[in-house]
Formats: sequence, C-alpha cells, structure tokens
Amino acid sequence: WSKRFNGFIASCLVKDFEQRPTSFDMLTHEFVRFVPRDPRVLRRKLGTLIDMYQPGERKDGFSESSSSVSGADTIKKELKLLATSRMVDDLASLEVMDESVLVSQLWKRYQRRLIYTNVGDILISINPFQKMDIYNEKIAKDYRGAYRGQLPPHIFAVAAVAYHDMLQENRDQCCVISGESGAGKTEASNILVQQFMRLGRAETKVLEEKILKVNPLVEAFGNARTIINNNSSRFGKYLELHFTAGGRIVGAHLSEYLLEKSRVVSQQRREKNFHIFYYLVAGLSARKLLARYRLKGVHHYLEQRGTAKGSAKSNAVSSERFEEIEKIFCLFGFSSEEFEQVCSILASILNIGDIRIEGDFHSHIGEVSTISNKIKLGDVAQLLCLEQEHLAKAFTSTHVITHGETIVRPNTVEQAIDIRDAMAKALYGRLFSWIVNKINPELHSGRKGNVRSVGILDIFGFENFRVNSFEQLCINIANEQLQFYFNQHVFAWEQGEYEQEGIDIKRVGYEDNRPLLELLLTRPMGLLALLDEESKFPRASDLSLAVKFHGNFQTLRYYNKPKDGGPTFTILHYAGPVTYETLGFLEKNRDTLKLDVSQLLRTSENPIVQVLFQTPLSRTGGLSPASTVSKAPPSATPLFSRKAPPMYFASAERGYPHSRLARGPHSPRGRTPLSSGGTVTSKSSQTVSTYFINSLRDLMSKMLNGTPHFVRCIRPNELKSPDFFQPDKVLVQLRYTGVLETTRIRREGFSHRILFQDFIQRYKVIHFKMTQRVSATPASCVCILNKTGLKSWAVGKTKIFLKYYHVEKLGKLLAGYE
Ligand code: ADP
Ligand code: MG
Repeated sequence: WSKRFNGFIASCLVKDFEQRPTSFDMLTHEFVRFVPRDPRVLRRKLGTLIDMYQPGERKDGFSESSSSVSGADTIKKELKLLATSRMVDDLASLEVMDESVLVSQLWKRYQRRLIYTNVGDILISINPFQKMDIYNEKIAKDYRGAYRGQLPPHIFAVAAVAYHDMLQENRDQCCVISGESGAGKTEASNILVQQFMRLGRAETKVLEEKILKVNPLVEAFGNARTIINNNSSRFGKYLELHFTAGGRIVGAHLSEYLLEKSRVVSQQRREKNFHIFYYLVAGLSARKLLARYRLKGVHHYLEQRGTAKGSAKSNAVSSERFEEIEKIFCLFGFSSEEFEQVCSILASILNIGDIRIEGDFHSHIGEVSTISNKIKLGDVAQLLCLEQEHLAKAFTSTHVITHGETIVRPNTVEQAIDIRDAMAKALYGRLFSWIVNKINPELHSGRKGNVRSVGILDIFGFENFRVNSFEQLCINIANEQLQFYFNQHVFAWEQGEYEQEGIDIKRVGYEDNRPLLELLLTRPMGLLALLDEESKFPRASDLSLAVKFHGNFQTLRYYNKPKDGGPTFTILHYAGPVTYETLGFLEKNRDTLKLDVSQLLRTSENPIVQVLFQTPLSRTGGLSPASTVSKAPPSATPLFSRKAPPMYFASAERGYPHSRLARGPHSPRGRTPLSSGGTVTSKSSQTVSTYFINSLRDLMSKMLNGTPHFVRCIRPNELKSPDFFQPDKVLVQLRYTGVLETTRIRREGFSHRILFQDFIQRYKVIHFKMTQRVSATPASCVCILNKTGLKSWAVGKTKIFLKYYHVEKLGKLLAGYE
C-alpha cells in the first residue's frame, strides 16, 4: 500500500497547489482509508513527507499564491495531527486543541462511521444520513448500566447517565438536544425515549406503548417536508418521563411550543404542508372515502406551488401511515366518532383553502367580496356542521362597533381571504393542541406520590433564511435563551460556585448573550414589548414598527438598522447576524380571529369544533404549549433552585404593570389603542409574543429544576448525503453551539461538585469499611481520594470538586467493590 499511498499524497499536494478544492477532502479521505495498523510506520512516512515539503521552496515551477500557502499549511497541520494523535472518544482529552483539531477529529471519526463523540460530559452527534446498526437490543443492553467513558460515546450513554443521576441524586434531569434543522435532533430524542423505556420499564405494557407512540403521533401533525429536512419538526416539544423512586416509568407529559401554523395555508417553494394532510388524502382515497370528505381533486393548500402529486409508492406509504395514526388514536382512547370528527376538521381545512373569493366594486360602499364557488362553501359548511349562509357571511362581512352601535361592514377581497386563512390556521392550531391535551392524561398510570422526571427537549435550531419573519424571530429568541441557559450552566454557574467555595481557578472567557436577551425581552422597552405596544394601534404599519425599533435600538451593539431605514432590522445573534423583515409582524403578533368567525364556529355541531372555540379563549394553536402556561410570571417557581445565577427572565420581567405599555414614553401621541374602537375580535388578552415569552419562561423554569445533559447535533453536509463531511459547515456549527469553549472549560474546570456527606455516602467503601461510621468532613473525603490515586481535584467549603474523568474512575473503582 505504501507506494500507492505516497504517490497519492504527493499528487494531492500538487493538486492542492492547483487550487482544486476537492483535493484536500480527497487527501484526508484516502488517508484514513490507508492508515496502517502500526502507528510508528505511519509516523515515519508522514515525517518524511512533511520534511520533503516546505512551502516557498517548491522546485517544480508552480508559483505560490498566498491562498495556496495557507492551503499547504493546513495540509501540513493535518498531516502532523494524523501522525501524532490517535482518534479520541473525548475531545476534551486532547493535548492540542483548536478549531481545526476538533473538526479533523470529528471528521476522522465520521469517516469511520463513528457519529458520536464526547466533549467532556457533552455529547456531539453527527447525522449519519444512513441507517446505522448501533441501536439494536444488544447494544442497548450493553449501555444500560454504562457510566460515562466506560463504553464508546453513544446517545444510549446519555440515557444511562441521566437515569442513574436521577436515581442516585434524587434529582430531576433534562436532556437538551440542540442543533440546526436536519441535524438529527428528533431522531436523537426518539432514540433517547426508547432507551429510557428500556431502562425504566413502564409499569404496564399499555403505558409503554402509549409513550412510544407519542412521537409518531405528534410528528404526523407537527412535522412537514422542508427543503432541508424531509421530516422537519415545525414545533418544539418537551417530553417529560416520570419515574418512581425505584426507577420504573409511571407516566409522561408532553408540552408543545410554537407550532408553525402558517404552513397550513402557505409553504415555500419545494416545501410541503404538514404530513397528516397527505396521510389523510391517501388514506381516505384507499378507503374510497374521498367523496364523503369532499376531498376529490386538487387542493390549493397542498399544491399551490405546483408541488407534484405524490407517486403511487409514496401514496401507499402515506396511506399506511394514516392507518397507523388511526390505531394510535384508538390506543389513546379516542372513539371512532372522534377520529372521524378529526378527519372532518382536517378535510374542512383543505376545503376552506379551496374557497374562491372575488370582488365587486360598488360606488357607494367600495369593494365588496363574494364567494364564487358556492359548492365549496357548501362542502365546508357540511364538514364543519354549520349553516352555509352564516359561513358565507363570516367571510364576506364584519361586525363593527362604533359609538356603542353594531353595524355590519362588507369585507374587501383581501380581508375575506385573510379571514379564510385565519380560520384554517386557527382550526389546525387548536386541533393540534386539543390532541396533545387529550393524550396527556392518558400518559399517566394514575400512581400518585413522589416521582422524579427526565425531560427531553427537542426544539428547532437557529434559523436564518433568505427572508426571515416573526416566526424566525421567535425561534431564534428561544435558541438565544437556550444558549444563555447553556452558558449559565457551563460557564457562569461553574465560576460562581468556585468563588463561593473559595476555589481559585482561572476565569474562562465566553460570549455572554445576556445584553441581547435584554434587548429582546425586557419590559417595557424590549423589542417584543414594543411590538406588543405597536400591535395595539390599528393604524400601525410594518414601517411604523420598524421605525419604532430603529428609534429605540439603533445605538445598541446587537442591533443594526438598514441603510435605507426601511422595514427590516438585523439582530446580531450568538449564532450570527439575521435580518428580519417586519412585513406581517403586527398581524402575526395580534393573531386575532374575528369574533364573527369564532362565534360561528362555536355553533358547529361537530363537538370537537365546539370545544376548540369555547370561551374563554385560551391562546392555543399558534405559540402554544398545550399544557397550561401561567399567565403571570410564575413567582412561585423556584428559578434559583440550584443556586445558579438567575435565568434571564427572572431579572427582566419584574413587575411592570401592563397598562404602562400603552403610555410608555416612546408611544406616539394621538393614536388610539385597539381596545377603544375598531373591529370586534375575539382575541385573548395576550398577544402571541407575550404568550411566547410566558411559555418560554415556563419551559425554562422546568429545565432549571433539573440537571442538564447536553446533546449537540451537527449536520455534516447540506445535501443530506451519507459519508460526506463539509468541514467548514461543521466548524460554524461547533462555534454556534459553544463546543470549543466547552472543551476548554471542561478541561480546566470541575464538572462535578459533590457535598461532603454525599461523597462519603457514595464512595465510602473505597477506603472505609461498610459498617464504619464516617463523619462528613473534608478530611475523610481526602482520605478516600488519596486512596484512588487521582490528582488535581479540589476541596471547597462544603463540596468536593472533581473533573468528569475523576467521576468515571471513581465509578469504575466502586464497581470493583460491588
Ligand atoms: P432535526 O430534528 O434536527 O431537524 P431529524 O432528527 O429530523 O433532524 O433528522 C433528519 C433526518 O436525518 C432524519 O429523517 C433521518 O433520515 C436522518 N437521521 C438523523 N439522525 C439519524 C440517525 N441517528 N441515524 C440515521 N439517520 C438519521
Ligand atoms: Mg426535528
């Protein structure tokens, strides 16, 4: 091989000077294929190669541009690295550590199909984009009792560690899975749930089955095909698993966040609507029920961008999925009538999209809208069990209150179309929440008493599209908050503890995103608060909103105003700058459903529709954890339970009366808030952004109660293809997720701190007799530690500070005594 190998490397080096971008990839790829068993041989060969080649001393006539020099340097570095380092399971254990080393380690591992890598106690997972035989029962069993570091890195190990931490420390745990769209978060969370089910076998078979079916069910309703990911989650979810003190699973609870319901009525090019609609059409078609549900023909909401009709094969799959969803509904105790009612609602949504609205111009009243395909109107009325007349009126006219009197005003075509789409979105959003609300009580075994929980958070990653709107802003704020949480955990909290315990350790710097969160979330002057304020004015516009933002934030570091002062703004997020267009912000934030519409839907004879539009309106659907979200700041929730520094919300939201918003110093005078006039809307008192902030707070308070376990998912390429690794793309993601800084602090810092008495209790046997009474003093802890031969631990005022590998070693020692 050596001849071929030498020849290949040499030719790659030459090629690199011709600036062929692929040659470097090929080099490394080939390199790994050819790596000999004996590292000494490898080192010798590489040594010669490196010596042979010196940049700037080329004798073969190629001229060297500066870029080729840096290319050559990279190669040299890469070669050196390959020559001198092994592949490691834990990047925090590397001697040399900079970005390029991390990337190349991940790359090498990925080429050998090693998709998991540890960085201290954080797991990096790189999407393999192919089926891997690493989740089978045998491997699952191997990892059941594995403590970290004992077996190669694996998502199963995360489950094992969280499970054992929960039982040992009697504390809630939470697994935070983050990453870009398509990085593998949802797969990872599903694999985690499955492994937890193996670890804490549910008390009954039915309960186990239900918990395992939660994901397939909500994915049908909440996932869709996007350009980036064929099964992209369009909502965030937090699934809590509840355990007895003995570690058996007794229940679960699902919270959902930020469903992207605008997808129901429009999708970007080459994207699709929520899966369930395709399942529905294919499933009903197979049962010859299309006519009954008025679903023959094409539907505007499904094919507006000329999306091709599904192939026969994909229809067959969709139809199977439909059968499966019906079974899952049955499993969760929905009656067959209820399932039919759900189907009717879904079918009605597709039919609503097919209602055509046209305009007439009347000289005395202006534009008047009419419905041109009355048959469709009839279909919708029938599916929703409504009077056709009433339905038509809801689209084409609006009740307005002026001077205490109600008058009916005709709608323009644009208004009528907005109402039509708002109705479809409201039906879908509320249906989704209703389903989640119905399954939650089914996920409990009924057992009361002391339970511990493990939460699994799978929430969309940071988004930056060509056009970014309100949805992206919310998603990115959620990510910003998660990053804050991560920083707090990894950096700030760590430092705080050292100081409190009197341990002297060098500060590790990191980018604190608190000022940005303040810009976004504080009341009454934060960006979302100003949005709320502007949303109260009927005459506010996309431009007036932007002007308001510019006026308040343009001097701040994290905010950029566009040169033309127009209706866009740029936020410098931790993950990079994102430019948002304010177009539609106000409408989306108000998210109002005309009172006419909600009153009408309440008269439906479909019992589910009735429930969905019952008063008092809770905001459901749009940005909605189906679980009740406290409206007021949850002052009783222990946000500071771990003596961690306060999460952002705690400092931001304190006690500003709502009324102040309307008369803040920045509100232009002479405009009337929406409440004192204008159209009648059945809006809940909360805007979408207020609701969003509250649900985010709610989530954070849940998470702060637990010990976090971080899984950072990475998308290795943009083509969804296996065995293909784009180092530049990976590097950006490593930066986003703070992995590099994490590596540093994990090496320098102490990832574990254990109270003296806990330490003694756990590790006593290493030095003392089982029956011996040992007092919880630093001295007895030190005795135990000295026995182990471990170095560089520290003793604080109340706790022992350990590096993560100390804990691994202690675990191994302990296992030896058992
Ligand atoms: P995200 O939730 O981060 O957007 P997904 O979990 O939906 O990403 O993953 C996108 C796709 O990548 C999946 O549909 C699957 O095809 C593939 N994938 C992700 N993780 C794995 C894995 N561990 N093994 C095999 N394929 C995977
Ligand atoms: Mg997902």
